[in-house]
Amino acid sequence: MSITKVGSLDSLLKGVATLPSLPAIALRIIQEIKKDKSSLNDLANIISYDPALTAKILRIANSSFYALPYKVDSIERAVHILGLEALKNIALSFAIVKGLKRNLVDEFDHELFWKRSITSAVSAEMIASKLNVKREDTFVTPLLMDIGVLVMYLMRPDDYLRVINKKRATNMPTCESEVSIYGFDHQDVGSEILKKWGLPESIYLPIAYHHKKKDCPPGLKNMADILMLSDIVSSVYHGSKSSKKFGELKQLLQDRLDMTDMEVSEFVDLIADKTVEILTSFELDAGDMKPYSQILQDANEELGKLNLSYEQLVMELKQAKEMAEKLAVEAWEVKERLREVAIKDGLTNLYNHRHFQDTMDKEIVRGERYSHVLSLIMIDIDYFKKINDTYGHAQGDIVLRAIADIFEQTVRKPDTTARYGGEEFAIILPETDIKGTITLAERLRQLVEKLEVKLGDKIVKVTISMGVTTYDPARGRRTKAAIIDAADKALYNSKKTGRNKLSIVM
Ligand code: GH3
Ligand code: MG
Ligand code: MG
Repeated sequence: MSITKVGSLDSLLKGVATLPSLPAIALRIIQEIKKDKSSLNDLANIISYDPALTAKILRIANSSFYALPYKVDSIERAVHILGLEALKNIALSFAIVKGLKRNLVDEFDHELFWKRSITSAVSAEMIASKLNVKREDTFVTPLLMDIGVLVMYLMRPDDYLRVINKKRATNMPTCESEVSIYGFDHQDVGSEILKKWGLPESIYLPIAYHHKKKDCPPGLKNMADILMLSDIVSSVYHGSKSSKKFGELKQLLQDRLDMTDMEVSEFVDLIADKTVEILTSFELDAGDMKPYSQILQDANEELGKLNLSYEQLVMELKQAKEMAEKLAVEAWEVKERLREVAIKDGLTNLYNHRHFQDTMDKEIVRGERYSHVLSLIMIDIDYFKKINDTYGHAQGDIVLRAIADIFEQTVRKPDTTARYGGEEFAIILPETDIKGTITLAERLRQLVEKLEVKLGDKIVKVTISMGVTTYDPARGRRTKAAIIDAADKALYNSKKTGRNKLSIVM
């Protein structure tokens, strides 16, 4: 069974206006970063609007992360020691995390998301230092590399939870799971949104390649490599396959640096210590994050308590794991199947009436919240009864399906095409004005008019009548019933005035 849903990056980002926008202070810091020349004064000015930010910056400057031999007690001093550019990027990191972090308890683990991001940022700094490729944005870039995940979740939460479940159940890489459901992955989205927010190219370009180093242009390779390595460290500490990831990391580090096994272990342990310290600065709870060697030791002690031979244990674990994976895939497939059944119409495979109503409710709320227009097309097949009467109900069904296929192929993914009932259909078009809606409706009308359905040796032709309306919350609130009623009236007008046409009621 394969359920794929391909949307376009463009249309997803069209809705990015609905994302929590960056706090003003973050935008001003970005402006500073992009300036060729800026002074300490400019930065100090911006930062002084947020006293807590100053405190956090000083705290980081004094952390063991920078291991300075003396106390840094002013921004001036911090600039002197860390450099103005580095400081701007640290300030930006704080401003962004503060602006986008949500203390929500929903199915998406926001806390874990930021914990992972900070771990990557700390790892990147430490790895870049070792490799001698440290830059002033070595912290902020990995911090933002997975921002696409957050955007994809905020835009279509249910779909992103499906991405997570599918990845878990099938063990496929996150990007692959994302592409299978969205048609693009978080690298594309992250890079686009950061560009939109005005961050410099040096930050958003490498992010587009942090999981595909092979395709990476040579100029971006260094940073993409650091991002990839730091992402693996995050997985060692926060993922479900710690030991596999640790093995991978060890190999990669040893390929690049002359390090013994022992040195790698110590280095990875050190990353945990520093991360815990930095997490606190970001007001994130480090929870039970501890050095990797400690994790291993704890696991060994647990193992010792079990009265089994090591081989026995490995065998049992392996079997249990295989079984669990198999069950997880099956459970995921059943869940997806149930979801389909619950929202799809069995005959046409379009969305069903209930999903139409739910989507209307959601899109009306979204449109009102963000002042977006919302359009609706109601469609009814002309003289459909005659087809049933002439060829029989089963043949009528074939015609219905052929028309539904045209809708399915023509209407874009962010829009919702539903079978409203019998031989009536409805299309919801969020963020689409009346002009765009008429263009689509007219295209559908022409495609159906040209359609030739073969029923045995007969060729059957049909037409559709349509009613179109657009709801613009800025021009006064309307209820769902009123919007549907407007489209219905328009449809009725098309029927009354000749069929095979569309009418508009605003
Ligand atoms: P109009 O142009 O005024 O819409 O004429 P019409 O014949 O299409 O209108 P009417 O609403 O009177 O008839 C709709 C017909 O659609 C009647 C019903 O039997 C048929 N119909 C509804 N659902 C299905 C279905 O699932 N399969 C088939 N084959 N026919 C259906
Ligand atoms: Mg009808
Ligand atoms: Mg009809």
